Amino acid sequence: MNLYEHEAVANIYKKFKVPCPEFVVATEPNAEVAEFVRSRGGAVVKAMVLVGKRGKAGAVKLVKTPEEAAKAVTDIMGMLVWGEKPVAVMVCEKADIVAELYCAITYSTETRGPVITLSMEGGMDVEAIDPARIFTFPVKAQAEIEPFEIRNMLVKIGFCDKYAGVLRQASLTIAGIYKAFWGAECRLLEINPLAVVRVSKKDKKTGEMVTSLDLRALDAVVTLDDDATVAPQKTYGERSAYRREPTKREIDALQIDRDDHRGKAGSYVEPEDLGGDIAMMTFGGGGSAVTIETAYDAGLRPANFTDIGGNPPAEKMYRIGRIILSKPGLKGVLVCGGTASNTRIDVTLGEGLVNAIDDLAKEGKLDRELIWVVRRGGPEVEKGLKLLAECFKRNGIKGRIFDSELPITQAPLILRDLLVQHRGYKVSAPKVKKSAGH
Ligand code: GDP
Ligand code: MN
Repeated sequence: MNLYEHEAVANIYKKFKVPCPEFVVATEPNAEVAEFVRSRGGAVVKAMVLVGKRGKAGAVKLVKTPEEAAKAVTDIMGMLVWGEKPVAVMVCEKADIVAELYCAITYSTETRGPVITLSMEGGMDVEAIDPARIFTFPVKAQAEIEPFEIRNMLVKIGFCDKYAGVLRQASLTIAGIYKAFWGAECRLLEINPLAVVRVSKKDKKTGEMVTSLDLRALDAVVTLDDDATVAPQKTYGERSAYRREPTKREIDALQIDRDDHRGKAGSYVEPEDLGGDIAMMTFGGGGSAVTIETAYDAGLRPANFTDIGGNPPAEKMYRIGRIILSKPGLKGVLVCGGTASNTRIDVTLGEGLVNAIDDLAKEGKLDRELIWVVRRGGPEVEKGLKLLAECFKRNGIKGRIFDSELPITQAPLILRDLLVQHRGYKVSAPKVKKSAGH
């Protein structure tokens, strides 16, 4: 799971004492933000999104006054940052940056252990850094790393040329970052910039203000291990790539693949703005894409999408079948995929889907007005489709079942025609206008 910066700072940096700026989180201008900015004479306002390069997108703003801060909060909340809507803004203490390091810890498949990547050329896009100036150091897979080991790395990357005075500080900070990476069970912890900053403090003896250098983690890109000791969603809630809160059915579906790693049946989406009245049970990336495109082209309105593959066991098909069919407002069901190479049709359709239908019927939850079209090929297809046909018959389901004799692109058209004929289905205009051609 990927974390928002404020979550990573609040939960990981604070817990493992990684030095970072103070901050408040807001979704609109408020008194707390105003006071935060007023008392510090300025702040940095950042969009909380799960994409990078926010700076480049104008979603990191330096402000001086509470008024500027209020405007920045409103502006950023109204932005789309590389297509993503911010869930909040983080208002951070402004750092007086002297140098920007790049620091990332992740796992390498090459060394089969953690690696620390460091560069003196942080701040900008990591892709833009001269590869000769990025250094990757494999480390032992253990909870802690000695500061002297980090010191050697820092010497290697040229840190001492200018910042020898904070070498010890930097070594301790990065050793602490490593401890946080391990302790929080991260897959990735990237800090860009890990900044050398100028800090002013009152001297305890003389009472005068003195400035010195120190380190601050000014950003946090964190991917937690989904198989961590404590499942990340327990702490952070469910998260999806949908850029909105997942629905109850989507959450239930996510659980399917989490509980059992065989095959994939849980990537279910039902965009709320989609509306729609056709349940889509599609198989494989290509088969799913073709089915969805042609369904739209045929004037059908999909209500949900599920891409199933990798020979999931019957139980997984049972669960996703029930989820797909529970969407309100359905008129038809399109079960469609290409010719599978290793997904067993008798198991997925003949057993999993059949059991789901039978149980829904037993529970009085089966909508017999639904019109089904099934098109599928693959191992044990004959047996699988026969079991499904028997199930349709004993449950009084209307629909037609085809094997790979029927071109995949015909299935949505057949469903459309049946719906028009039996349910007076109002066909939509195709979503994508065809080019006239020249
Ligand atoms: P990103 O663009 O998504 O990586 O967002 P960052 O949080 O890294 O911010 C982008 C850039 O804003 C950084 O590379 C810094 O150069 C700058 N920046 C962030 N925080 C501060 C700060 O406290 N002071 C100053 N002067 N610049 C900052
Ligand atoms: Mn950054």
